[in-house]
Amino acid sequence: MGLSKSSVGMGALDMGLGIHKKRNSDIVAALAGNPNVGKSTVFNAMTGMRQHTGNWAGKTVASAQGYACYKGQGYVLVDIPGCYSLDAHSAEEEVARDFLCSGEFDVAVVVCDALCLERNMRLVLQVLGQTGKVVVCVNMMDEARKKHVSVDLKKLENRLGVPVVGTSARSNVGMEELYRAIKEMAANRAEALERGKTEGITPGEICRGVIESGDKGYHAKDRRKDKFFTGRITGIPVMLLLLFLVFWLTIVGANYPSEALHSFFASWEGKLMDGLCFLGIPKMWREMLVYGMYRVLTWVVSVMLPPMAIFFPLFTILEDSGYLPRVAFNLDKCFKKCNACGKQGITMCIGAGCNAAGVVGCRIIDSPRERLIAIITNSFMPCNGRFPTLIAVITMFFVGEAAGASIGAAFILTGIILLGVGLTFLVSWFLSVTFLKGVPSSFALEMPPYRRPQIGRVIIRSVLDRAMFVLGRAALTAAPAGILLWILANGRVNDMTILSYLSGLLDIPAKAMGLDGVILLAFLLGLPANEIVVPIMIMAYLSQGSLAEISEMSILKQLLVENGWTWATAVSVMLFTLVHWPCATTCLTIRKETGSLKWTFLSFMIPTILGCAICVLFHGITMLFAIP
Ligand code: GDP
Repeated sequence: MGLSKSSVGMGALDMGLGIHKKRNSDIVAALAGNPNVGKSTVFNAMTGMRQHTGNWAGKTVASAQGYACYKGQGYVLVDIPGCYSLDAHSAEEEVARDFLCSGEFDVAVVVCDALCLERNMRLVLQVLGQTGKVVVCVNMMDEARKKHVSVDLKKLENRLGVPVVGTSARSNVGMEELYRAIKEMAANRAEALERGKTEGITPGEICRGVIESGDKGYHAKDRRKDKFFTGRITGIPVMLLLLFLVFWLTIVGANYPSEALHSFFASWEGKLMDGLCFLGIPKMWREMLVYGMYRVLTWVVSVMLPPMAIFFPLFTILEDSGYLPRVAFNLDKCFKKCNACGKQGITMCIGAGCNAAGVVGCRIIDSPRERLIAIITNSFMPCNGRFPTLIAVITMFFVGEAAGASIGAAFILTGIILLGVGLTFLVSWFLSVTFLKGVPSSFALEMPPYRRPQIGRVIIRSVLDRAMFVLGRAALTAAPAGILLWILANGRVNDMTILSYLSGLLDIPAKAMGLDGVILLAFLLGLPANEIVVPIMIMAYLSQGSLAEISEMSILKQLLVENGWTWATAVSVMLFTLVHWPCATTCLTIRKETGSLKWTFLSFMIPTILGCAICVLFHGITMLFAIP
């Protein structure tokens, strides 16, 4: 069909956005639409770009440009932020309106959801008010068909006076018609259509008789599901159960692959050493590369990859099925009570994957005050870099070899997450009565219809977009950190390794927190990425100049116990893992998103002070009651 695809660039859409045409004859089409109507999917289907598609309202906050060529005609596609209207209540609406007013495009394509057509019409009419060159793309036609809803596209076309094309972007259906309609509209030939009079008409009138529902029960079905997933009695318990299930599957599933990866990497170590020796690399460099960089890097990969490969697809399934916006709904009341925004529930969920992503996600919150609250409290959700530390400590100190041990571990992990959620509420409330006073704003949280997730896409997307991204970042930090650690563990100050010297300096404040100098130093050195905290601890304890090969948790536990760890130390480590400074990437992201050093400083200090205070308090209690 003569369709070729390539991309020409991606970036935040500001008004300085340059349109990258390849030829003068290229048609520039701006893609607009309500959040969650499948706009990113249409964009991807047309350009072949793998832009991440989320399932919550307002996910598309940045913008992308893509290039496609169909039957010899070039198209530059500009993905503008998802918005409900052009009234410029939020940053997204402002950007969308400004771009649509700028005239920097030839045709505006407004993507609508066939199942929520009436709600989408507001934007269609507003865009029509800005420019006559509009093509309406009614997406999710497959979903409509499945739910026995028929959409009379011709009738809609006659009423609006612009071309209306039906698509099922997820399965690439209707794209050719869309290209054709855009081309015709750009060439003005679409004027053959009789222009409808849309002024003064309500969306309700536009859609009358357009949608026929054969199965009146389909909304009822979703409503029934909502009663269960967001009901007063069932909503929160079901949410907790799902959270528990995701953790349990992650812990159970990650155990064996982690050990297999450990032994695989360990088996290569000797060969690598021999290879470097063969190449004539001096001994010191060989040891630095293999015992420093290679060991830290492979530790990070084997500890992180298996839980991520399980956790991310499960998380994406919840996202794709339409459940995550329901989590926000369930938590809305609690956030309102803290004078914060219910959408913070969503940014919190994103933070559980990666805090930096959670901070960027806060753009979906319109009120600057509430957005700041969400940004500052995002690090109370343990990100994927901290999960492995939590899981390792729980496995070693709180679950034996007994059957059902993983269930206990999942319970503890769920408890820790709930503590993080509790702290999020507490600090949000504190901020809203001190630094960020104000009343909560009201917002419309769109509940997308429930959809059956596409498992294949979920796996590809979660593994490629998320797991590999997080792992790549961890590996990038772990490699130089491995070398630095090797130097610290081998360099000497007064007969002591630099690592022992530094940890000795930190011993007194650390002891007050129920930790020791090594643990605190590991957290400090782990600032670039939380993933390397455990490897640093091990290296420091062994003080033998490199990360020892510890392939089994029991050996690791023995090492920790020999160095004075008790179950109380383990609890303190878990508490400090949950509550301490955000990692360097998150801090940089906060600086970028808030544009302010003051808020970045506060975002750093609040969890740091709180974490220290919680640990001192816990240590005090154990001392008071003489708990071993
Ligand atoms: P956006 O927020 O408008 O960019 O929406 P997305 O592109 O993120 O899509 C939202 C959800 O709808 C995703 O789960 C998509 O897989 C799904 N989706 C998109 N287009 C279609 C379609 O044509 N049919 C069906 N059944 N699902 C779709």
